Amino acid sequence: MHRSLAAWDHAYLWHPFTQMQEWEQEEPLIIHKGKGSYLIDTEGRKYLDGTSSIWVNIHGHRHPRLDRALTAQLGQIAHSTFLGLSNPPAIRLARELIRVAPKGLQRVFYSDNGSTAVEVALKMAVQYWQQRQPTAGTKHSFLHLKLAYHGDTIGAVSVGNIELFHARFKTLLFPTLEVDPPYCYRCPLRLTYPACHMACIDPLESLLKARHRELAGVILEPLVQAAAGMLTAPPGYLTRVRELCTKYNVLLIADEVATGFGRTGKMFACQHEGVTPDLMAISKGMTGGYMPLAATLATEEIYHAFLGRYDEWKTFFHGHSYTGNPLGCAVALANLDIFRREKTLTHVRKQTKLLARLLRPTASLGHVGEIRQCGLMAGIELVQDRTTRTPYPLQMRIGHRVAQVCRQGGLLMRPLGNVIALVPPLSTSPQELTKMVAILHRAIVDVTEGSASPA
Ligand code: PMP
Repeated sequence: MHRSLAAWDHAYLWHPFTQMQEWEQEEPLIIHKGKGSYLIDTEGRKYLDGTSSIWVNIHGHRHPRLDRALTAQLGQIAHSTFLGLSNPPAIRLARELIRVAPKGLQRVFYSDNGSTAVEVALKMAVQYWQQRQPTAGTKHSFLHLKLAYHGDTIGAVSVGNIELFHARFKTLLFPTLEVDPPYCYRCPLRLTYPACHMACIDPLESLLKARHRELAGVILEPLVQAAAGMLTAPPGYLTRVRELCTKYNVLLIADEVATGFGRTGKMFACQHEGVTPDLMAISKGMTGGYMPLAATLATEEIYHAFLGRYDEWKTFFHGHSYTGNPLGCAVALANLDIFRREKTLTHVRKQTKLLARLLRPTASLGHVGEIRQCGLMAGIELVQDRTTRTPYPLQMRIGHRVAQVCRQGGLLMRPLGNVIALVPPLSTSPQELTKMVAILHRAIVDVTEGSASPA
């Protein structure tokens, strides 16, 4: 089976975020099955899923309850449109999501991936202000953090700022305002937390003060800027941004696509600081990693601005063919049910402590600059020189090489440049977590100090 699949992959496929010339020269790893924290390829080799299949898996692969929820829904219907119709799993899921979401979020608008959940939030914010303050001029622009990543569609890329992903598409992107993120390890102000008193908030406040009349919203990932390199914000940062958004009458849009569904130890990262955003984008963990599904949650205040007579044209004109897909919603409901039944959040908190402990020896390696961790998401920033914090040149592909060595050891990883991101399924057992960190540690030593040394 493997031979022909590999040949067809090379002949017909185009993979995301992949240099295909390189891909075509390598033997593709073709995942055939999964069980718990493991992925199994077409040749029967087992790998620990160190990325939760790109941050989506929650309760492990082939969880019996998720499997059953999906097959039970198949016995009813796979899909019907959400345009002008509704369906039971989508209705029930909306109710459950509102129950677990930050208090004050009251409406669920479905879509099918993280980027579209962000696009929806941006469009809602702009239309909200048009309808809320029709005479107050245009609140149409957005403020975001540098190094932000909110997805790959044009709007989501516009409010992002990872040069490598953005440079090619500059002509398509709309203008935005941006401020430095709270990247304490490389503080642009050269200050140290907590003595800095979060001085990095000041430029954000200045921009809000000067430009709030044109600003529709501030968008950020609460607590952790994930794709930026697992940049963890200092405690209180999110609260302060919330206060400023309220003060200057600008919407706060929380992108919880990566941080949502227990990843940080609470159902949503905003809940660590008791913050309610005006709009919240969710996706990845929503179905436990089973089906593509996403949603944008809004406050009743925002929703109300969209109510009116048909010919007032306040309808939110947005919707996808697979919006509110019953299979996705049914499995998402089962996903939330497992959180309760298996006390997933309690397990995550315990595992968070274990992970911190396991990573301690890694933190003192010669080429590890910093380890940042929030719940079960960790980023290990590798540096060429620990004293000067000099990064490895990207051309050295240090992260990629560590991931390759991990793979040989039976752990699948996907680096973020020089940052190795460890994002295991939330259900990962202590033994599996210990094994993951052991393989990763060994790989970092091999690549940065040992036989596979880049120097
Ligand atoms: N926002 C964040 C914070 C993300 O991490 C991602 C995906 N990594 C997205 C949005 C985009 O989600 P998707 O890939 O499902 O479009």
